[in-house]
Parts: sequence; structure tokens; C-alpha cells
Amino acid sequence: MAIRKIVTHPAEILEKSCKAVVSFDKKLTSILNDMYDTMIEFDGVGLAAPQIGLDARIAIVDIDDEFGTIEMINPRIIETSGEQTDPEGCLSFPGLYGEVTRPNFVKIEAFDRKGREYTLEAEGFLARAIQHEIDHLDGILFTTKVSRFLEDDELKGVESE
Ligand SMILES: [Zn+2]
Repeated sequence: MAIRKIVTHPAEILEKSCKAVVSFDKKLTSILNDMYDTMIEFDGVGLAAPQIGLDARIAIVDIDDEFGTIEMINPRIIETSGEQTDPEGCLSFPGLYGEVTRPNFVKIEAFDRKGREYTLEAEGFLARAIQHEIDHLDGILFTTKVSRFLEDDELKGVESE
């Protein structure tokens, strides 16, 4: 396991649609383990493979709730509803935070590290983090969705993804 370097904006890898994972092998396991270590090291609540320079549809989310670490391989959003507007940050944009409006509920299909397909439903902050990471896999950055950037004195408790 190892801590990887975070790719910060601007970088080409952050703005492209990533390739689907086809092999659920040891390499994937080691990428996921490294992504977890890297997310924890940099105090994030999520991380997508392009943020460590990898062109692959792999993302993790851990908001320290009962879901634990959610590993999403080739995830797809199949349903959304509602709306939420809250501050958001990103490990690829150190120190930058803004308000983003997203659906409040999301239902996804994805594969775990063993290649088993699963369905997951989430709402609120977890739904926000999941959508932020899946956006990364399509080269969509949160800055394109920000309605208002936040000043330093508004940042208390905002976490990065
Ligand atoms: Zn991000």
C-alpha cells in the first residue's frame, strides 16, 4: 500500500472520460488500497482514479458513516431525485470551495473489487460525494457546477472529495 501523488488542476487526465475497468485483478486491488491510503492521508471523503493520474473508472467514497468505504468500479447512476445545495471541495483544487446544487438522492450500479455488481442508494452528503466522484470519471469537475465560490470565513467543516 502506498500514498499516491494527487493530480491537481489543470491536468488533461482530470478532464477526460476514463476507460472502463475490464480486469478485476491484483492490480485493481492494489490501486484501491492505494486510493484509500491517499484519501485518508489528504483528509478527503472521496477519491477518483484520475486524481492519482489513472485513466480508469474507479472511485472510492468514505464519509465516515455506516456505509464505510464504498468502492465503485465502472459505476453508473441509474436514478436521481430531489435537490440539495451545499459547499463542496475537491482534492484536485486545494483550498477552493463552492456551493454546488445536486440531486439529493442517487441510486447507482457498480462493481466491487471482486467484480460483483451491486446497487446502492444514498441521500444527502453521501449522495453528493458519490456524484462528485462519478463526475470525475467523466472528466467533469465540480468547478463547472459551482453557483457561488466560498470565502475563507465560510469554510468551517467543509471536506474535499
Ligand atoms: Zn474531486
